[in-house]
Amino acid sequence: MRDIIVDGHPNLNKVSNLVKVPMSFSDKRLARNLHEYIINSQDEEISKKYKLRAAVGISAPQVNILKRMFAVHFDFEGILYSYVVINPEYTYLSEEMTYLPGGEGCLSVDYDTEGLTPRHWEIEMKFLSFNLENNKLEPKTLRLSGYPAIVFQHEYDHLEGILYVSKLFDELPGIKPAFEIEVIENIEEDE
Ligand code: ZN
Repeated sequence: MRDIIVDGHPNLNKVSNLVKVPMSFSDKRLARNLHEYIINSQDEEISKKYKLRAAVGISAPQVNILKRMFAVHFDFEGILYSYVVINPEYTYLSEEMTYLPGGEGCLSVDYDTEGLTPRHWEIEMKFLSFNLENNKLEPKTLRLSGYPAIVFQHEYDHLEGILYVSKLFDELPGIKPAFEIEVIENIEEDE
């Protein structure tokens, strides 16, 4: 957590460089560390012990390394999205837009924000996937929509030096949220 740089640091606004292939030893270690951070941040015990903020993704520029690499690890509707993404490129962006209801958050934004961030509803991303089991790179193309597409766009933006706080809107007329937030009502119980 102490390696994570926060909004105000100039490197968060810089465009990152391509990762050299084949990957260097230090780039492989970085890939592992980013992925491990995300897994640990979601573990209640470990995150408490090391004061980690829970996250579903982190990019190399957030640890002050300007390389086109990010890691994600999350489950959505029964599908696990667990990747270290190297040198990603969009091969499709839908015209239809969406947003995360309640707004986005970021390990590099250590203050509260209000507002909604427009994202493409559907994307296709081509990248090299770093296989954590055999240390090898595999070409991969993912077609994503809704929440997973939002996560990948948020991380991709970091590689372009863009934070979501530069894309905040009070409302996004005509755009549908990626999903509806469930409103949990307090039910009064009769004793
Ligand atoms: Zn972020």
